[in-house]
Amino acid sequence: EMVSAREISVSSTSGSRPASKDAVINLDHGDPTMYESFWRRMGRQGDITIAGWQAMSYFSDVTNLCWFLEPDFAHEIRRLHRLVGNAVADECFIIVGTGSTQLFQAALYALSPPDTTEPLNVVSAVPYYSSYPAVTDYLRSGLYRWAGDASTFNGDTYIELVCSPNNPDGSIREAALNSKNGKTIHDLAYYWPQYTPITHAADHDIMLFTVSKSTGHAGTRLGWALVRDKVIAKRMIKFIELNTIGVSKDSQLRAANILKVVSDGYELPICGSEHRLFNYGRKLMSVRWQKLREAVKVSGIFSLPEFQSALCKFTGEKAETYPAFAWLKCEKRGVDDCESFLRNHRILTRSGRHFGMEPKYVRISMLDRDETFDLLIERLSSLH
Ligand code: PMP
Repeated sequence: EMVSAREISVSSTSGSRPASKDAVINLDHGDPTMYESFWRRMGRQGDITIAGWQAMSYFSDVTNLCWFLEPDFAHEIRRLHRLVGNAVADECFIIVGTGSTQLFQAALYALSPPDTTEPLNVVSAVPYYSSYPAVTDYLRSGLYRWAGDASTFNGDTYIELVCSPNNPDGSIREAALNSKNGKTIHDLAYYWPQYTPITHAADHDIMLFTVSKSTGHAGTRLGWALVRDKVIAKRMIKFIELNTIGVSKDSQLRAANILKVVSDGYELPICGSEHRLFNYGRKLMSVRWQKLREAVKVSGIFSLPEFQSALCKFTGEKAETYPAFAWLKCEKRGVDDCESFLRNHRILTRSGRHFGMEPKYVRISMLDRDETFDLLIERLSSLH
């Protein structure tokens, strides 16, 4: 049977709990509500208090190139990268943004020559994160424009977006293009130990991270960029000045504490293993992926990507990849539109079309709350 738009808007679960057994479950967005259970368990440690008179000024640190970056937040970012070993942060400029979404736009601005007659081409290999084309083109900039799939792009000057592990399919990626006039932005939102083995410390010109996918605080809207070159860093900062005159200090103070609690969980001897975010996330993801693979097998009509395991330098153990999204392919004959097929079974997903692929693929969030995830498994298993 068909599910009406009204029914979806009334009973979908994004941001709230599923109302009932037959509620529509919304796994279209990558809303990381899975992490609420960890932060509940951490109790008061995650809390902060901001006095009425505090954090009022526009400025955070006028001695820093990024004058709106809270020093405590910068300190905890460097500390966390040192602990996890996922990126070389010490020699870089740190730029804070309202989500990595703002930083992505700041990077496009910074990398585009200001005096061009033609907009610079922005590319990413398919399947690419669906926001890249949308965010690149929504203002019809004269500086840059979306040019599609990097793997079929011909040209010498471009900006390539490299997302690794990749949203939507979880693959580990390197730049597809290699021209000396080309620029790259590395989106490392998912390069954290709960999703993938940490095989090396990433060391690229522009690297983007976000609390949304690392600690689950998507609503705090904070990301950070690690930038090597001072001129590029300055232009990114200029963009944020023009766009929002800096970034919420309240959010930065909260995020600084959240990152501190994560690092403390590993570095303070008084903390037990239940205080370790990445262990917690990894365990949950491994159980979920096992359940998902089982359900997909039972259904007999879908397939999922496979991943190689590798040694994780953070945990010291061989680890598998457990992506934040399931990139599900419908193998059932006669079903070309997997998104509609699943919508009719009250599961909202995002069509492969948005990622530059065929509609027999869909992306499903793996980061929702337990009760939503369990409904997904129940429904997929019953589709055979
Ligand atoms: N990059 C990737 C690859 C993402 O998946 C997301 C979130 N879906 C973002 C960036 C945006 O993150 P933020 O919430 O920090 O804007």
